[in-house]
Amino acid sequence: MFETVFNPEIWARVPFHLWSVMFFLLGSIVGSFLNVCIYRLPRGLSVVTPPSHCPHCQYSIPWHLNLPLITWLLLRGRCRQCRAPISIRYFLVELLTGALFLGCWLNYGPTSARLALIFSLFAAGLVVATCIDFEHFIIPDEITLGGVAAGLLFSFYPPLHEQRTALAGFWQGVVGALVGWGLVYGIVRLGKVMFGRQRVALPVDTRIVFSETAVHLPDRDIPYEELFYRQSDEIIMQARTLELIDRCYQNVKVRLSPRRLRIEAEEFNPEAIHQMEAVSTEIVLPREAMGFGDVKFMAAIGAFLGWPATLFALVVSSVIGSVVGVAGMMMQGRERFARIPYGPYLAAAALIWVFLPLDTRQEVRALLAVLNPFAAPGAW
Ligand SMILES: [Zn+2]
Repeated sequence: MFETVFNPEIWARVPFHLWSVMFFLLGSIVGSFLNVCIYRLPRGLSVVTPPSHCPHCQYSIPWHLNLPLITWLLLRGRCRQCRAPISIRYFLVELLTGALFLGCWLNYGPTSARLALIFSLFAAGLVVATCIDFEHFIIPDEITLGGVAAGLLFSFYPPLHEQRTALAGFWQGVVGALVGWGLVYGIVRLGKVMFGRQRVALPVDTRIVFSETAVHLPDRDIPYEELFYRQSDEIIMQARTLELIDRCYQNVKVRLSPRRLRIEAEEFNPEAIHQMEAVSTEIVLPREAMGFGDVKFMAAIGAFLGWPATLFALVVSSVIGSVVGVAGMMMQGRERFARIPYGPYLAAAALIWVFLPLDTRQEVRALLAVLNPFAAPGAW
């Protein structure tokens, strides 16, 4: 019996499009697991236990009724027990992941089923990263660093980087991760130097006023909505004096985030404090287009796709970002769209690379080969 199961000739006789259906179904099942990751990873919850349940009534759908896509449709987006609405995101993520798996199969299946599987897994990582980044403005290390590890591991399979030996493939994975990491790290560092967004040095003993809507520096007012994009964003300063309406401090470290004002160890609700004045010589403001999550994310992209893909992803993501930015400004004013994180653009660009025709990718590589100081030693 085992001989039949593992006989490649028998598997080869399974019609190609039966596998297409299988990849779509596998993708939608993986997508339903990705939904669990998207909800739980950024909240620090286990993705294994407990089984998925309705957040309103704790009802957990028995596994034999929990079919991707179909369950959501049959229940018309409502909990089976308490009828609380279930976000359409669950359905869309399952559909998208199914479609991506199918796309990877159609694109890579004819040459290598293993490649199709590896790229499917990579695409699944992009889906999780994108959804979490949209909602929380972070990409968890499980995805980014886990992605680097997975990418390096799969790099031992030479066709991933169009190499002939496992070692040459692995080398391309390592170089891809390093170039991806260095590229975005450089941009993040450079951005902070160029725009001074991180640490603003002020003339000695500058008066800084915090009103209900903005930080007032001597030369400009910065509204909080331009500073606080997420709950974890903080304005930090060492104040020589700090005056609140009913009290006064000397030489204290002050941290202000959307939900919390901390003066040394004391905590206040910023809503309750209408005005605050500080004297300080430096203030640290949170603001960056790309963060260190994106550095690690690009390293993972490089480990899977190789260093030319990281350059491609950087250029293409900034083009997509500009187009979306301009469209967004035209549609609903600047504020809302300024808040889209950068990770989803990187993910979109990486996906475009995966689905580019092979010869186009080779052309890009040939074009970049001029720059290539990292070519694998020929003897490998
Ligand atoms: Zn319920």
